[in-house]
Amino acid sequence: MESYTEKILITGALGQIGTELTNKLVEIHGADNVVASGLDRYQKGMTSAGHYERMDVTNTQLVRQVISDYEITTVYHLASLLSGTSEKQPLFAWKLNLEPLIHFCEMAKEGLLKKIFWPSSIAVFGKGIPKNDVAQEVVLNPTTVYGISKMAGEKWCEYYFDKYGVDVRSIRYPGLISWKTPAGGGTTDYAVEIFYEAVESGKYTSFISEDTAMPMLYMDDAIKATLQLMDAPQENLTIRSSYNLGGMSFTPKELASEIKNIIPEFEIDYKPDFRQAIADSWPSSIDDSIAKKDWGLSYDFGISEMSADMIKNLKVKLSK
Ligand code: NAD
Repeated sequence: MESYTEKILITGALGQIGTELTNKLVEIHGADNVVASGLDRYQKGMTSAGHYERMDVTNTQLVRQVISDYEITTVYHLASLLSGTSEKQPLFAWKLNLEPLIHFCEMAKEGLLKKIFWPSSIAVFGKGIPKNDVAQEVVLNPTTVYGISKMAGEKWCEYYFDKYGVDVRSIRYPGLISWKTPAGGGTTDYAVEIFYEAVESGKYTSFISEDTAMPMLYMDDAIKATLQLMDAPQENLTIRSSYNLGGMSFTPKELASEIKNIIPEFEIDYKPDFRQAIADSWPSSIDDSIAKKDWGLSYDFGISEMSADMIKNLKVKLSK
């Protein structure tokens, strides 16, 4: 395998995943080899990366400039509009979620980048697909603009690999749960908010109904999986659209019961909103056996370990 020093650019680096992925990449590669980017103006302490660029990913000229200035080899392209927000601005979501990805693939095709990571989502599945243990190769039938943009993105990734050998790698993330950075407008955000409210006020009103099961993943496992996929030898990878990743599957009621084990006075009620329809179009659980076989996917956190870790960390964070 060719050896080179990785110079990494992260887009959406101040978001829920970006913040934690940046920390981990800095730990592994050193701050000087990691460039964080986002829409916000720079403030001291906002990122652990050695460099920060205020960069709108739709500004192709600026993106090219940054790639060239830092001699970037690897991009983790996370900037996007999430599922809830995309429904409110469908045409903008399509533009933001697709065009910069294609632009990064073009740059890789031109030899300016060696590797790209781009996350897809379980939102690609959609209507008419069996709810449980959804296999890798099923007909995709997304019903949300977010799901449609992710499905198209997956196809572009596969196209650039098949046609030009572009090394773009992807995971269909389930709902991600973390305590460091608030969630950014997704349908699975209830499973983050519930912990904040449990610690702060002891009650939560869920916008998802009590028996709706969705696949979820604790952030530590999401970061671990992302790095495992990016480190895997090219020849082991058999999926170039996006790998299924199942994590754990639970309902709001089951999660509330876990929280009650730790905070016995916790109370929950349910007022489903427009996000319920999005959740209903998503699978309850996912078959991720191909990721396990191809690059060794494994998880450290189940629902109990995750709940304990969330509450322990939020108690400290929210008391400051
Ligand atoms: P987030 O909303 O927390 O972060 C996205 C970041 O992108 C934000 O900081 C935002 O300011 C930035 N951004 C938005 N528009 C931009 C633009 N034009 N230029 C530059 N930056 C811009 O999202 P996240 O949860 O960290 O998700 C990251 C990626 O993972 C996205 O592609 C998302 O679709 C995918 N994903 C997330 C989840 C989840 O549960 N969080 C699940 C599946 C897939």
